Amino acid sequence: MAAPPASLARLLTTWYESRKRDLPWRKTRDPYAIWVSEVMLQQTQVKTVLGYYERWMERFPTLTALATAEDADVLHAWQGLGYYSRARRLLSGARAVVERHGGELPRSPEALLALPGIGPYSAGAIASIAFGLPEPLVDGNVVRVLCRLFALRGDPAKAPLKAHLWQLARSLVPADRPSEFNQSLMELGATVCTPTSPRCPECPVAQQCRGLALGIERELPELAKRKAPTELRTAAAYVRRADAVLLRQLPADASRWAGLWVLPFAELSATESAPAGSARALTELGLKTNGGALLREARHTITRFRITLSVVAHTLSNPRHGAATFFTRREVEQLALPSIHAKLLKALW
Ligand code: SF4
Repeated sequence: MAAPPASLARLLTTWYESRKRDLPWRKTRDPYAIWVSEVMLQQTQVKTVLGYYERWMERFPTLTALATAEDADVLHAWQGLGYYSRARRLLSGARAVVERHGGELPRSPEALLALPGIGPYSAGAIASIAFGLPEPLVDGNVVRVLCRLFALRGDPAKAPLKAHLWQLARSLVPADRPSEFNQSLMELGATVCTPTSPRCPECPVAQQCRGLALGIERELPELAKRKAPTELRTAAAYVRRADAVLLRQLPADASRWAGLWVLPFAELSATESAPAGSARALTELGLKTNGGALLREARHTITRFRITLSVVAHTLSNPRHGAATFFTRREVEQLALPSIHAKLLKALW
């Protein structure tokens, strides 16, 4: 039997108060810090975020400090967290807050949503957790908990269920302690109502769970099957000059790794060899090579791509190096590189 929203909220917030994990962003009401943590936690696990969050708050302790930072410093601080568009969204949002609101994040969800880089989830998190407003938030954990609690069928990524979940979350969030309520839903999803093995005997709302009562809790949510990742072959050129290595910066509108520094690389066609593709990457920068030899291969996955990266050592036959620059090891440590390029360089120095 489903409980009325008030008692559901009471059960969940009481459970949350006694079981919540001790996390640094839970010790603050600073809207900026909460925003940073919520953005980092999108698509990244808590244990990974912990170190990044602490270092970020030391490097950019206030929203104004972030807004006035160089793009390159911000990307460097994000290096290794992946999904760099999140760092760029934080930066553009912070700059807009300084311009429009004198450096203070606004309280109203409408004003938050009007800022670049802040979507419904971040607006709900900032409004409820930092400002104590009864605003809903729906992330992957909340989707799972609500679909199971209310036995909701259908794909939650699509209308109409997506809209229904936001309405449901809004109808549930109480005026009293909305921050704790929203965090209790996320915490329950992260620690008890987990994707494949929900621990229902430990759940504070098991009595109210329609999915459990119907025996369909593990079937929910009915997420669309992920497509198999696309295989992508790429080749990068490794060019050394004394103790420096040649890197190029990707343009700000690049579809992947925009603004980051990389070994010059190219995607390979079905028939192209790694030495030929990496030579092409150099040619596109106005550089000529004497030919190359394969050094090593690495594999990595980014969103829906499974990428093989072959690194080929080249020597240049012309001294000009156009859009690329040689950097020493010490200088590279100050640049923002995608993890895979940073790891390869570390192994090759
Ligand atoms: S009873 Fe089980 S399925 Fe239902 S909300 Fe709790 S953990 Fe999730």
